[in-house]
Amino acid sequence: MSVTKKDTTVLQNFINGAWVSSNSSQTLNVPNPATNELLTKVPVSTKEDVNAAVAAAKEAFSKWKKVPVPKRARIFFKYHSLLSDNHEELARLIVQENGKAYKEAYGEVQRGIECVEFASGAPTLMMGETLSGIAEEIDSEMFRYPLGVVGGITPFNFPMMVPLWMFPLAIACGNTFVLKPSERTPILANRLAELFSEAGAPPGVLNVVHGAHDVVNGLLDHEDIAAISFVGSQPVAKYVYERAAAKGKRVQALSGAKNHHIVMPDADMDKAVQHIISSTFGSAGQRCMACSAVVVVGDNEQFVKALSKKADELIIGNGMDDEVLLTPVIRKEHRDKVLGYIEKGIAEGADLIRDGRKEISDHPEGNFLGPTIFDHVTPEMTIAKDEIFAPVLSLLRAGDLDEGLEYIRKSRYGNGATIYTNNAKAIRQFREEADAGMLGVNVGVPATMAFFPFSGWKDSFYGDLHVNGKDGLNFYTRKKMITSRFEA
Ligand code: NAD
Repeated sequence: MSVTKKDTTVLQNFINGAWVSSNSSQTLNVPNPATNELLTKVPVSTKEDVNAAVAAAKEAFSKWKKVPVPKRARIFFKYHSLLSDNHEELARLIVQENGKAYKEAYGEVQRGIECVEFASGAPTLMMGETLSGIAEEIDSEMFRYPLGVVGGITPFNFPMMVPLWMFPLAIACGNTFVLKPSERTPILANRLAELFSEAGAPPGVLNVVHGAHDVVNGLLDHEDIAAISFVGSQPVAKYVYERAAAKGKRVQALSGAKNHHIVMPDADMDKAVQHIISSTFGSAGQRCMACSAVVVVGDNEQFVKALSKKADELIIGNGMDDEVLLTPVIRKEHRDKVLGYIEKGIAEGADLIRDGRKEISDHPEGNFLGPTIFDHVTPEMTIAKDEIFAPVLSLLRAGDLDEGLEYIRKSRYGNGATIYTNNAKAIRQFREEADAGMLGVNVGVPATMAFFPFSGWKDSFYGDLHVNGKDGLNFYTRKKMITSRFEA
């Protein structure tokens, strides 16, 4: 990887409330995707580092599980206030290490803070259930308990929101946590741990171990880890799910996506174009809820022209510049993979109606790619099937809504889908038949909020209970039933 050298600091792990260097001397560069300047280096930690973190978390669990729930919740009130006080700084860190636009990063911080809000409701969430008189003089009660040590493994594209999907709720429920952030965006995780400690979290309750495969495998195999929360690409999600489940752990593994947006003939065209542009090209298409395939229903050349025109007008550049919408992809290696997909789309016969490769030479400093649109893509083509995770859009043509819904059904993924229409009958049919877990009606990014589950289907999710909402609560707790006889 070619990076401009600037900073040679190596990040430390956070274990038992202290910053400690990894056992390993191996590191990876963490460059700014917009400039390729070196921001820091991340250690490729070892299984020994994982073992130290898990031991600290296990020790902390013995005390933390007994801390009264309202007292645990109070730490999250304080954490909420610290995150809010540092909202701008956190957003700037995201822009630096991930490359997305400041406005997007600011929104991501907000989404993360909302997860802390949800976790602060732990006293209500943790309540059990009782029924007096299930039989004569017999009552039944259900109590909730934490699981133990939970491991979290997160992707590069939401360095704040995704870790906060996991550890606040897990810890508020009484568990302790070992986080393995993406090695491509590891900086923010350390700031999150620092602020959590400042909020009053005792040592060992949250630990951060940086690195790659060895750390992940160390967590998946560790006998003192009770559950694994994972978010990342499809092959890794499946691998994590299978390996951790084989070791008897609870697993939730959120995976890749190919999100279809259906544009009906009656849609408000200006608004549909606006939402699709921002969903497809915002964060350089590197969102699991990004629109990556549009199904144009009917002969709607006016929509296709308007979409292309808007794509031409997009401002490309560094996410710290206010007007910029299209920011870089995470690494040059990822862009090379995307260029391979563009070649494949052409070879398989799709019409390249907007070629974003022409903008690469205008921005040699970062990993940029201009907005790229293929028309007349068919569901069998590779670019229609694979998650490309870049500013590359496929337009598929459909005669009617049934055909559009069939395209969604054929996709192996089922994270999100959107319809643009004001027709109640079409909306109802879409709601009933679209084969995906998070639907939008005239909404470009129908991502759910912290009090609802983040609910992908098919190969977009492996497991049973999703992150956030009551699913998250049930994932991070186990239930105990007591049946008592009170004889007179
Ligand atoms: P990734 O799979 O490359 O990495 C995710 C995590 O897994 C990282 O911490 C990484 O270190 C680890 N990892 C990677 N390869 C591994 C391997 N072979 N063995 C063990 N561990 C490994 O994902 P990414 O590129 O960082 O993130 C983008 C992906 O995440 C996209 O596919 C996107 O759709 C998905 N994602 C999904 C959701 C969702 O809610 N479904 C949300 C965000 C991102």
